[in-house]
Amino acid sequence: MAESRLRIAIIGGGLAGATLANVLIQIPHVAVHVYESTPEFSSRGAAIVLTNTSQKSFQRAIPSAPDILKKTGAVPKNSTQLILGSGPEAGAVIADLGNSGTPGLVVSRFSLLRELLSLLPKEILYTSKKLTKIIAGGDYVDILFEDGTSSQFDAVIGADGIFSSVRKHVVGTAADEAYSASPAGFWDSRNLIPYEKAKSVLGEEYFKLDRQYGWIGDGAFIMHEFLEDRAVVQCVISVIEKDPPKDRRKRQLTKEYLTEILSNWLDGPIAKGMIELTLDQPEPSGYSQWEHKLTLTYAKDHVCIVGDAAHSMTPWQGFGAGMAIEDAMVLGVLFRNISSPQGISAAFKAFDAMRRVRCERIIHSSQGTGVIMCGRNEEVGLDVDKFRQSLFSRWDVIDAIDYDVHEQEALEKLRETLTGGN
Ligand SMILES: Cc1cc2nc3c(=O)[nH]c(=O)nc-3n(C[C@H](O)[C@H](O)[C@H](O)COP(=O)(O)OP(=O)(O)OC[C@H]3O[C@@H](n4cnc5c(N)ncnc54)[C@H](O)[C@@H]3O)c2cc1C
Repeated sequence: MAESRLRIAIIGGGLAGATLANVLIQIPHVAVHVYESTPEFSSRGAAIVLTNTSQKSFQRAIPSAPDILKKTGAVPKNSTQLILGSGPEAGAVIADLGNSGTPGLVVSRFSLLRELLSLLPKEILYTSKKLTKIIAGGDYVDILFEDGTSSQFDAVIGADGIFSSVRKHVVGTAADEAYSASPAGFWDSRNLIPYEKAKSVLGEEYFKLDRQYGWIGDGAFIMHEFLEDRAVVQCVISVIEKDPPKDRRKRQLTKEYLTEILSNWLDGPIAKGMIELTLDQPEPSGYSQWEHKLTLTYAKDHVCIVGDAAHSMTPWQGFGAGMAIEDAMVLGVLFRNISSPQGISAAFKAFDAMRRVRCERIIHSSQGTGVIMCGRNEEVGLDVDKFRQSLFSRWDVIDAIDYDVHEQEALEKLRETLTGGN
């Protein structure tokens, strides 16, 4: 192997892998390659919101981030209205959340991935390359693919999503049960409905302003928001899940089932319309939300995990991609500060030390936020004032971060480990 640069393989070409690759190609002494298992790079799902905090880390990690976001056609999330959806006070407005500072951006996942990949040289991107095995030893890591080929790298970074193979290597198979992703206690059904149709069913008054509407109620949360210049409306029903299927398979939704679980909502302003729109889908269905409650480590020697492979979370606080961007930002800083294969395990140790505490705190906060938003927090219940007091400060765990300090601490951990202090 004549390459004098650090050779790094990223496994998985989703948002985490593509963001990280864009960070690492900026570093002259790093050669990065991205391996994706599917025949084409693609992203499932409609849109994500990149909060003000996510936009900051994105720009720190990739200086051209504002241009990238512009090319995706991202639109500002102007405001959110939270309304009580069930019970005697149904219809009461809990809060009108405007924007102080930079608004979040609603970004199409597909467009974001497309733009990130367009900045990478084609020759470092591989499709139909499913990782099947990692053989690590000494300063090199061999990776084997399903097609029978293999390759050797100085480091391997798993960005291969919630059911990551690289995670199994890092955390160890003995710990499979305890450290695997597991149901978080909710399922949801997300559907894209043509704008005029959604408006006629849900009612004009909830379409007057360009905002997100969230309905908090007994055992569930309902939401609708406008995408793609008001061409479509994303309609979401999220429900407390008591009987999660073991394999995260699709849950078929029927009229009987939906009217039973939303029985306390039916006299309110939103549930009947949302049930109608959901049942009008070709295959009305929902999926369990899963999360990584606990992870032993994000790194083992020359292998580490990022994005959903390390810390998948529920969508209640909308920061899964935000955490993946932060991972890329921190790894960028660490890789700029090592130049030989011998520094890699120290960099990955520093990454684990910096990232795991923060990410697990956010995972747990998001799950608890879901319980509140589904009206099942014992102290808050369906009390409008208590919602106001308890809900909004929950975003502090995400936003109260100084990225200068976070990066500096990562570098200190790296130095400590390199000098044998850890
Ligand atoms: C409903 C919902 C709403 C959300 N909303 C938001 C939001 O508003 N804001 C936000 O910040 N986040 C949000 N998130 C979270 C965000 O979508 C994820 O955190 C992010 O997309 C994860 O990206 P990833 O690249 O880590 O994983 P993935 O997107 O799962 O990508 C993993 C990639 O690895 C590939 N792969 C898997 N196995 C292998 C293998 N063995 N070999 C090679 N390749 C492999 C896969 O094919 C895939 O392309 C939301 C999530 C959900 C479910």
